[in-house]
Amino acid sequence: MDAKGGRVQNGFRQWLEAGSDAIPAPDVQILTSGGRKISAHSAVLAAASPVMESILDRAQKRGKSRRVIRILGVPDDAVMAFVRLIYSSGCMSLDEEEEMGRYGLHLLVLSHAYSVGWLKRACEVALALRLTAEGVVDVLLLARQCDAARLYLRCMKLLAKDFAAVKKTEAWQFLQANDPWLELEILQFLQEAELRKKRVGRKRAYRRVYEELGDAMECLQHMYMAREGSKKNHPCSSSACYRNLQLLIQHLAACPRRKACPRCCRMLQLLRLHSALCDDSTQQACRIPLCSHFKLRMQQQKEGKEEADTWQLLVKKVKVARVMSSFSKRKGQEGVHEQFALCTTTARTSD
Ligand SMILES: [Zn+2]
Ligand SMILES: [Zn+2]
Ligand SMILES: [Zn+2]
Repeated sequence: MDAKGGRVQNGFRQWLEAGSDAIPAPDVQILTSGGRKISAHSAVLAAASPVMESILDRAQKRGKSRRVIRILGVPDDAVMAFVRLIYSSGCMSLDEEEEMGRYGLHLLVLSHAYSVGWLKRACEVALALRLTAEGVVDVLLLARQCDAARLYLRCMKLLAKDFAAVKKTEAWQFLQANDPWLELEILQFLQEAELRKKRVGRKRAYRRVYEELGDAMECLQHMYMAREGSKKNHPCSSSACYRNLQLLIQHLAACPRRKACPRCCRMLQLLRLHSALCDDSTQQACRIPLCSHFKLRMQQQKEGKEEADTWQLLVKKVKVARVMSSFSKRKGQEGVHEQFALCTTTARTSD
């Protein structure tokens, strides 16, 4: 509703509430299917609905003294609620909100047909709040007919979530028999939702792997720092990650067939990853095995380009995961911006 419309209706509301004698007499009658006549003010209707405004204009141009608007095909009470809501101009009382729930579908149709934008949006919200598996197909059909995109999407989401229950409803069976195109549209949406879910699941699983690798890198550092210093310096000495690393290191030291052994290969990859992440530029101070060896190899760029690229991508992801994990471990909101900046520069500089 525009500002002018809002002002006009608020003015009427104030008059009505004040019980003033200055309230103009109703000059329009609204006729319902049940033969009910509802008196209304043309200024209020015209300000709320451009469609009613043009109906009233046409009647005036034809010189009709009694202007009538016919609202047919919906229950009388729904029309009554529609008019009352137009008069409320968006400031609904509890009774009016209750009516919105009771006649939601009819009010959606009316607000769409008469272009009452704010009421249509309010109906979409009210109907979305009351969606159930039993009623969702009917609401979906109506949302589609009334171009109610938000409500349509909410219905589709509920369908995707609760399709097993929706499939059993009569409305779904009716739709299958009578509207194969809509059925296809819904099934396509469900398939896309399923694919989206799998994609998100895969992404999460990868992120977990990067986080675990990041933790292993940290553990490795704790382990070798602690060897030189106090034994109390093991922040995660009881974790599974620490124990696994210890076992792998012991195994690597004793294994006779290193390059052909999957456990050794795993440990060597972890040591190589450490070396790629290690910011000790002197190459001597770092006590983690093979750190300087891998650094040297990296400089010589022995690997093929493709392998180097894949490796760099892994290094970058683990770097970001480590920053993100230290960020989430940090208590409170302090330093949020610095962490974020660090994370983005880390990602950028490793490109
Ligand atoms: Zn540790
Ligand atoms: Zn081995
Ligand atoms: Zn190192």
